[in-house]
Amino acid sequence: MSAKNVLAVGAHADDVEIGCGGTVALHARNGDNVIILIMAESSYTYYNGTVLRTKEEAEREEKKAARILGAKELINLGFKNKEVPYSRESVESLNRVIDGYNIDIIYTHWYHDSHQDHRRTTQSVLAAGRYVKNILMYEPEYPAGRSYLGFRNQYYVDITQTFHIKMEALKQHKSQIRKYGEKMFLEAVEARARHRGYEIGNKYAECFEVVRLLGEI
Ligand SMILES: [Zn+2]
Repeated sequence: MSAKNVLAVGAHADDVEIGCGGTVALHARNGDNVIILIMAESSYTYYNGTVLRTKEEAEREEKKAARILGAKELINLGFKNKEVPYSRESVESLNRVIDGYNIDIIYTHWYHDSHQDHRRTTQSVLAAGRYVKNILMYEPEYPAGRSYLGFRNQYYVDITQTFHIKMEALKQHKSQIRKYGEKMFLEAVEARARHRGYEIGNKYAECFEVVRLLGEI
């Protein structure tokens, strides 16, 4: 089977690692062309003004993580953090990437994630990706996934072989780990992967809700 062009989209640096890092690493290992696209420039200032992550820090971390996952390209669209739009600009920027790389598969946020950036990212992806054959939404992100709707666990990927790569990539986001607390954050990510793995009789898995699934991925 020929190599596929895979686009993994996250609103912020680290979203892809948490949501579909193991799956992305599996694609890279299988020889697919993986492009990671981040919508926001990912500096983070709390509403009270405390700077939790500078732009430079985020850029450094996202580059390292993308390299570990085996991505061929890392694109950052540079929208303002917490103000990622669902607009002509966001849709057309994504369209350029989708057409430019002839994308076969897109991974994106869950549509009902409670973070406004995550939601608008997926709204933009669905508009821009209207001709893409496969679109899968990864699970809501910690801690922004507390929605009133439930995620539907429809499609599983066994990531037992690449779980260590997912975690290694995630650990590059030192500023995020600082923010959420290393032990609790990493353990929660692992626990979810174990839980999803157990559901399909494997050690680790990632789970997706399907927008469209036409080919074998
Ligand atoms: Zn995020």
